[in-house]
Amino acid sequence: MTAKEKTAVVTGAASKRGIGRATAHALAAAGWTVAVLDLDEAGAKAAADEVAAAHGIPAFGLACDVTDETSVATALDTLAADAPPIGALVNNAGITSPTPFLEVDAAEWDRIFAVNVRGAFTITRAVAPGMAERGFGRIVFLSSVSAERGGGVFGGVAYSAAKAGQLGFARALARELGPRGVTVNSVAPGLIDTDITGGVLEGERKAALLAGIPVGRTGRTSDVADLITYLCREESGYITGATYDVNGGSHIH
Ligand code: NAD
Repeated sequence: MTAKEKTAVVTGAASKRGIGRATAHALAAAGWTVAVLDLDEAGAKAAADEVAAAHGIPAFGLACDVTDETSVATALDTLAADAPPIGALVNNAGITSPTPFLEVDAAEWDRIFAVNVRGAFTITRAVAPGMAERGFGRIVFLSSVSAERGGGVFGGVAYSAAKAGQLGFARALARELGPRGVTVNSVAPGLIDTDITGGVLEGERKAALLAGIPVGRTGRTSDVADLITYLCREESGYITGATYDVNGGSHIH
């Protein structure tokens, strides 16, 4: 099976300046059929059209709330009918929040976990059986440097905890699905220039963060997208259960 005969699903890829959108482009450039699944249906369709036009591959843009089992099932049913089998799943949909621990309430904690952890569970649980059955799959989680260094970028404790939850999730899943030809890896980006912080990370706070990044700049979405695309290659089948830093040296361990 070549990449052209497989679909790569990228969740949360509607965001115009987001990591998911850049990943959809990079995967399409590598020949994958791409499916953009996002809360924002119009954005998902626009992303799919943009990716299809840029790379001459089929692309699907579908409404999907990863926290909602029915919504995930509906999107995957559409793909099952119209697209090649799913060969890669990029668990990119995520939300953050800077609320300090002494102010966070249970509802906010649950909201952060619902998207980052349970959302990734819901769609992975739905996609993994087909991958295991076909004997091929690539699953990539978007964790964060916040999971490794204990926050200190933008997200609060809830975000760091959820992103660390993804690391354990990915590692254990890698162990279970390895024998079935499915690899599971995480990428842990540092500060990437997207809209996830809603524009509030500016001024002195941003300058202080930049001072702690040896390569002297924020990350580009393409920096992360390239790594994800590499992990999704057929030739990357011996890489599993790993966490890849892409943080400009802001956390070296
Ligand atoms: P972004 O805010 O630009 O995009 C996130 C996308 O996820 C949006 O399109 C949004 O509509 C979608 N989304 C949110 N909730 C969803 C849900 N319930 N179902 C489906 N889609 C949903 O974010 P980004 O900066 O591109 O981040 C992408 C991923 O990378 C996230 O998981 C984030 O935590 C992680 N990350 C980002 C950075 C960074 O500095 N930008 C650093 C480390 C990790």
